[in-house]
Amino acid sequence: MQKNFSEYEGVIGLEVHCQLKTKTKLFCSCSTQFGAHPNTNVCPVCLGLPGCLPVLNKRAVELAVITSIVLNCKINETSIFARKNYFYPDLPKAYQISQYDQPLAVDGSIDVLGEKIGVVRINLEEDAGKLVHKEGYSLVDFNRCGVPLVEIVSKPDIKSPDCAYQYLISLKEVLQYAGISDCNMEEGSLRVDANVSVRRIGEEMGVKVEVKNMNSFKWVERALGYEIERQINILKEGGKITQETRLWDEKKQKTFSMRGKEEAHDYRYFPEPDLLPLVIDKARTEELENEIPELPSHKRKRFVEEYGIPEYDAGVLTSSKELARFFEEVLKDYKNPKAVSNWIMTEVLSIISPEKINECKIKPNLLAKMLVMIEKGEISGKIGKDVIIEIEKTGKDPEEIVKEKGLIQIKDEESLILAVDEVIRENQKAVEEYRSGKEKALGFLIGALMRKTKGRANPELANRIFKTRLA
Ligand SMILES: [Zn+2]
Repeated sequence: MQKNFSEYEGVIGLEVHCQLKTKTKLFCSCSTQFGAHPNTNVCPVCLGLPGCLPVLNKRAVELAVITSIVLNCKINETSIFARKNYFYPDLPKAYQISQYDQPLAVDGSIDVLGEKIGVVRINLEEDAGKLVHKEGYSLVDFNRCGVPLVEIVSKPDIKSPDCAYQYLISLKEVLQYAGISDCNMEEGSLRVDANVSVRRIGEEMGVKVEVKNMNSFKWVERALGYEIERQINILKEGGKITQETRLWDEKKQKTFSMRGKEEAHDYRYFPEPDLLPLVIDKARTEELENEIPELPSHKRKRFVEEYGIPEYDAGVLTSSKELARFFEEVLKDYKNPKAVSNWIMTEVLSIISPEKINECKIKPNLLAKMLVMIEKGEISGKIGKDVIIEIEKTGKDPEEIVKEKGLIQIKDEESLILAVDEVIRENQKAVEEYRSGKEKALGFLIGALMRKTKGRANPELANRIFKTRLA
């Protein structure tokens, strides 16, 4: 279906809902713990029973302020909570406490691969419950009711599905680094909705379509790609785009209409009468600013400057806060940044993902110790790869593993000469080839020696011995 659509461009805005990392809910002291038995983390406040009053969670406000700082927003000194009224079975109060015309923060930006994507606003709001659909009936779990969220609304600065994907990656990185949220999409602590329209380049914005039901960043990318193409096709055939909400169907790789504009909600927003205006204290904001750890973009730049590693490496190593810490911990005991980076990127990350690095048995000091052994020539790099796998299996010290498995490199000339002579006896054809001038045959012989010694021969020494024995 790929056609030349060059005169059209997509215009994308993203709305991200992100759960703040608090122990308790936004307006009551119920736990926010994921996976609790349905309807056990509830109380009269979050169930919306009559006569109950909300009490604002201080930590949630602090985390929302930190979000505003790291996304370079202007924090409104006074913001107002508003009731968003609608009926739905997962919303017992029949309204959600959110913010409307006076949100917490406005006018920020986020750095996406060197480009700035604007952030329109950040709202603090509560989550609704969850419906579980069974055959012929549905169940409702109110545990999520009142869980604190920040809603982060981007400007329509995003021009392509790929850029949307990168925006989400960058946003997630920043939110995780700053300790605002764990951004776990499977557990619903990060959700993405999109507004998409297309226009002829240089012309005014077209009719917006809202796309929902995208459960991963890849789904977002695919749904947006499909939707932009769908809209362009309609326009090319002289049709009109309908303003509507569409759902992404990952199985069919299509969006389909959920509701049109005529069914759109009128939320009858009004200021929440049970809560005072939220006033953000400047001094406290400054204190919070000082609590923010080094963010990924800064860390990447620093890694390149301080350790002299390529930008690509710095990007991989800072893809999670935990991995960046791991890298710097290894460097305390082994001071060759590029070597450490290579080992992490190829061997360690083939075993464990960047976010889970703390859960694996390969500890920074063990990796450093092993790299020192390689540098001293006690083991070869090839053996090192096996040692890493063994560390992950057993958590043992590399020295112990090497000793137990007899992996120490053979550096003593006499024993290596014996092995070399054996290889020469067993591979007469290669020997003749080498003697008749085929340099390549030497590689074959060294390979045979490595197999014989299970990779333990010191390559330089082996090379020298072969050359003298075959001369
Ligand atoms: Zn509660």
